[in-house]
Amino acid sequence: GSGERRLTVDSINTYYGDSHVLFDVSLSIDDGEIVALVGRNGAGKTTTLRSIMGLTPARSGRILKDGESIHESPPHRIRKRGISWIPEGRRVFGGLTVHENLRLAAHSADTDQQGRIDEIYERFPRLDERRTQKAGTMSGGEQQMLAIARALLGPETDLLLLDEPSEGLAPQIVEDVAAIIRELNEEGVTILLVEQNAEMALGLADRAYVLETGEIVHESPAEELLADRAAMEQYLGVH
Ligand code: ATP
Repeated sequence: GSGERRLTVDSINTYYGDSHVLFDVSLSIDDGEIVALVGRNGAGKTTTLRSIMGLTPARSGRILKDGESIHESPPHRIRKRGISWIPEGRRVFGGLTVHENLRLAAHSADTDQQGRIDEIYERFPRLDERRTQKAGTMSGGEQQMLAIARALLGPETDLLLLDEPSEGLAPQIVEDVAAIIRELNEEGVTILLVEQNAEMALGLADRAYVLETGEIVHESPAEELLADRAAMEQYLGVH
């Protein structure tokens, strides 16, 4: 139910080879929240997501999903625990149609595939209208929508990790993507939102963490950070 702890990242340290990138990073996400993870280029945001997914496992510390340890599990097992990751750059198959992209994503799930795809079309009418369009010819915002739809068609998802969904999008389209994120959240999907676009992320999120060279340097309600001009300037270079 609402308010339960979905994810706990407890003092993780992550390396690429000898290079120490995350230093005792801790954060938590409760059921129903949108949590923003913001920070400058190279701060370690993507690495945090890679550690959660088990792609670049933390060398120390713990990660718990619904109270159970996942930091020693392989990525596919973590995926089956309900965590879905949409990497930077929205990976869709540009040469395939919208419908083909959705069918491929649903393929691994063993339940009623057509039923789930129909639900997706109901939720995203824009995709329904474009079933036969090649994904590569859609706008950036539509491709992001398709990437989110694909993530939702895999194993049951209750925690979505979004890496820079606004990247490369025109401001108007960023608003469309923000609206989709808000809607998904209202339908019960808990979200960890990594963004360069701090204003967009903080406008959506309940709480925020700031990463600076691999350390969490700030944690507060999102609107508090957004209103703190000195912190916005210091941590994010936003004037
Ligand atoms: P951006 O917003 O620019 O994507 P980020 O906050 O997501 O930045 P990361 O991509 O997590 O930052 O990178 C954190 C640090 O780890 C950077 O110094 C980066 O150069 C380094 N890094 C990332 N991937 C690798 C890798 N595969 N091998 C070595 N170093 C890496």
